[in-house]
Amino acid sequence: MMSGTRTLMIIVMLIVAIAPTMAYAAYDAPSSTHYEVTLEVDPERHAIKGTSTIIYCNRELIALDSLYLTLYPNAFDEEGEAPLIAPASVSYPEGFDPGYITVDVIDRTYEVVDDTFLRIDLTDPLTPGESVNIELNFDIKVPHLTHRFGYHDGIIYAGNCLPLVCPYKEGGWVRHPYTARGDPFYSESAQWSVSITAPTGWTVASTGTPIDEDVGESTFTTTYVAPDTRDFAFSCSERYEVATLQHGATTIRSYYLPGHEEGGVRACELARQAMYVYEDIFGPYPYDTFSIAETHLGAAGMEYPHLIFVDQQYYTSPHDMIFEVIIAHEVAHQWWYGVVGNDQVCHSFIDESLAQLSTLAYFEEHGDLIGTSYYENYLRDPYDRARKEGISDIIDRSLEEYGSDYEYMVMAYWKGPLVLDMLRWTVGSDEFYDALSDIYNKHTFGIIDVATFENEFMTRIPEKELDTFFDVLLRSDSLPDIIAYEATYDDGTAIIEPTNKVMVLPVEACVTLEDGSTMTVTGMPPLEMNVQSAPVSYVLDPRDRIVESNEENNTGSFSTDEKRLPLPYAPIGLVAAIVIALLWRKRS
Ligand SMILES: [Zn+2]
Repeated sequence: MMSGTRTLMIIVMLIVAIAPTMAYAAYDAPSSTHYEVTLEVDPERHAIKGTSTIIYCNRELIALDSLYLTLYPNAFDEEGEAPLIAPASVSYPEGFDPGYITVDVIDRTYEVVDDTFLRIDLTDPLTPGESVNIELNFDIKVPHLTHRFGYHDGIIYAGNCLPLVCPYKEGGWVRHPYTARGDPFYSESAQWSVSITAPTGWTVASTGTPIDEDVGESTFTTTYVAPDTRDFAFSCSERYEVATLQHGATTIRSYYLPGHEEGGVRACELARQAMYVYEDIFGPYPYDTFSIAETHLGAAGMEYPHLIFVDQQYYTSPHDMIFEVIIAHEVAHQWWYGVVGNDQVCHSFIDESLAQLSTLAYFEEHGDLIGTSYYENYLRDPYDRARKEGISDIIDRSLEEYGSDYEYMVMAYWKGPLVLDMLRWTVGSDEFYDALSDIYNKHTFGIIDVATFENEFMTRIPEKELDTFFDVLLRSDSLPDIIAYEATYDDGTAIIEPTNKVMVLPVEACVTLEDGSTMTVTGMPPLEMNVQSAPVSYVLDPRDRIVESNEENNTGSFSTDEKRLPLPYAPIGLVAAIVIALLWRKRS
């Protein structure tokens, strides 16, 4: 139960009558959770009234005596406590307005825990393989707020609103609080059937495939199905206009505000381009629909299954590169977050860094120039600037372990994809994408962790000894330092032996020859090249693709024969030089 002032806002009706658990026989139990949901959007009240029937199957090896559900709208119930994306003065157009959910679980005892979770007690322990049927009534008060969840300017957006069963991992229910940093969500794929009722004249952008529409006197109800889907979100407005494109079996819909037609149509086209690229690299998009909804998000974009929210401010300049970056990034989340999920709190970098790396691949697909532009302007330059500010450099952390919101952003959005790019560079593009495609196909609708990711690469390419690579670049604060310890020339062959103190990485070298021409060689050290004239100097990693601790020492000269004399012979050389000098002096 709630206590203190929160109780005033969250009315939870505790039903003490205990009904027998509706258990299904194990043999016909659904393996993943089923949600049958009805939602009624009430724009007058700024509320969403709903019911949810949840069939949960115990897939654990132990009996469970309770279930936990998320009640994330309650994260917005108190002033000063809401996980805002932008400052409160910007987020609340008319001052603080609470958001919350009231819940009534039919015929079961339950309690709101930590404000944003609901514990439902089971009458009898749910044995492995058994299923239970939970029925809820709820009412969501939508705040006047620019966010994932809120309403403004005629749009109601409902992201992370519906009660979801928390994942059960390692002997406990995972209950991540809704924090301002990152996307603090973690849920498992489930089977959804959702009916949304909205006033006549309104348009709904939603997760799922519409399969039925029922038109009433002043409302209409659309029923959506969403198989193997880890969350359900929607946005709706009386003002939405719609652009549509077909991509194979998938219908892409873009919902935009009046005056933003160019952006709305372009969003559709960009999403289709991105889907082509990601399907080609990683594997098929497995759903019938994909939608882009213009909302008042307060951030650039937000991913939901089959649906993304994009902030309205970007629709005014849809040909700016940032608009394409947002669409390409959020579409990539359909692969990394949607189909293949991860714990976005404990290992938050996984889906973000993979979405950023996918975006790099998307731009590279459109030409070297734009690929380089994305790499430099959206990954490398911001990361290099951040490093100069002395942030901690550990990527694989939980959201709360990062020193600041900025540090989280630097690690998940910039350094993470740069390290993935180095991995691509180290194992080779084909092997890299084959490994990602295998991860995608093996873990479709599942969850991956960092070990899944690393093991896939280490098993496929054992000779690369990638454990050091992952340890240093994901989990330590140190970076490699690429430095050439020997650059020699002999009989038309130039050899550069670059090394670094912690791991062997492939590297690119650009060599300037005596005749003024340059040659480039790439690979695992030592780098060898046949040259027409004597090499003079070299630059290692000329395109700056390696994230390293010191880039100042990447240039050098080819040593002369004298300089290359092995150390024990050096004194002999010196003595010989002195003798020759003395003899010469005597003669003159
Ligand atoms: Zn993202």
